[in-house]
Amino acid sequence: GVRTPDVLIIGAGAAGLMAAFTAAQKGKQVIVIDHSPEIGRKILISGGGRCNFTNRDIKPERFISQNKHFARSALSRYKPADFLSLVEKHRIPWHEKKLGQLFCDNSAQDILSVLLAECSAAGVRLFTDVRVREISRSDKFRVETSRGTFLSPALVLATGGLSIPKIGATGFAYDVAKHFGLPIVTPEPALVPFVFGGMDQGWMHELAGVSLPVKASCGKMAFEEALLFTHRGLSGPALLQISSYWHAGEPIRLDLLPGQNAEQLVGGLKATKGKMRGPAALGRWLPQRLAQEMARQHVPDRPVVEWPDKTIRALAASLHRLDIYPTGTEGFAKAEVTRGGVDTRALSSKTMQAESVPGLYIIGEAVDVTGWLGGYNFHWAWASGHAAGTAIAEG
Ligand code: FAD
Repeated sequence: GVRTPDVLIIGAGAAGLMAAFTAAQKGKQVIVIDHSPEIGRKILISGGGRCNFTNRDIKPERFISQNKHFARSALSRYKPADFLSLVEKHRIPWHEKKLGQLFCDNSAQDILSVLLAECSAAGVRLFTDVRVREISRSDKFRVETSRGTFLSPALVLATGGLSIPKIGATGFAYDVAKHFGLPIVTPEPALVPFVFGGMDQGWMHELAGVSLPVKASCGKMAFEEALLFTHRGLSGPALLQISSYWHAGEPIRLDLLPGQNAEQLVGGLKATKGKMRGPAALGRWLPQRLAQEMARQHVPDRPVVEWPDKTIRALAASLHRLDIYPTGTEGFAKAEVTRGGVDTRALSSKTMQAESVPGLYIIGEAVDVTGWLGGYNFHWAWASGHAAGTAIAEG
């Protein structure tokens, strides 16, 4: 038969479930459909299994979009404290890690359970393992699926981005948006490790497993956090963060001794530990394997006391400003999030409704709004889902 909810939501992830219970609590009949046989797989693997569900320091500047003001409205109407009160209402134990990041004590399953409990209490109907075959629109949206036809005045696309296709990510929202004539900002992997080729790959590979605090920058953006050498290149929070701002061909600049003065440090050794050689000297401030590599690249195999001042200056400059050129990233298979997506110029920032297609709403990662690492992407899912759910219920 034909089902006729007030709202049909495609995608039962973070944003879709938030929009669903928000609209249902205000009296709308809501159906959510998802192609996956299991709900919320991305929530379950998030934050290393503990779901970094929001961040205390949510600020619009910490979201990337062609329109940097777009996220402001939804974020101002759904705050970290709003999600936290939902978590506390369900007595989910949580803790704050570094940099305002809020995690579950036990498991990401707790967050999924909160969303499902709210949906169930509000009477949201959920259908899994549903394939969408066709979408058309006359006075209502008509969605043909493997589980029958849905006719609805409001259609919400909440199918996320392209990251981690292995657990069911698809470009569905982009295809539907294009079908309705909406522009797309080219989707690209973000919060993703870098890979290197040629000579860089050689020395980095040798350091796989080494990590240290750095400042990583690209253009005007910089992040001071950990770097991790991997078998294929570089990862760690500093590099994941900067990957969201990086474009092919650009260099990444690394400061391996942020906040310190390498010239003074090394120069000081001349007087006190003049007999030391490069690896031992640099090993005072850098992990041993990296110290060896930097010594090999930048100083003679002689005691520090014999190093010319010029050598020390050049070494210090390299330690504070190492320009490296990634050949690419690990791609969508390893990206935590997708940058780009449905162009925000086509959407209302207050309601997430497509300006040219009344009744069509697009939320979550499918939209060209990408958060920093640290709970920002879930917060965008909550805030955009809340904005759409509220607008649909009140409209
Ligand atoms: P999703 O949560 O991805 O939900 C999309 C839903 O749509 C899915 O249920 C999917 O099955 C369904 N779907 C897809 N295609 C179709 C289709 N064609 N038809 C029907 N249904 C479809 N962010 C944080 O803030 N904190 C974290 O700790 C964190 N950890 C992460 C860890 C990993 C490994 C990954 C990959 C991401 C992590 N993220 C984290 C990012 C965060 O998970 C996403 O940004 C967020 O889930 C996006 O929410 P969404 O509702 O837009 O999409």
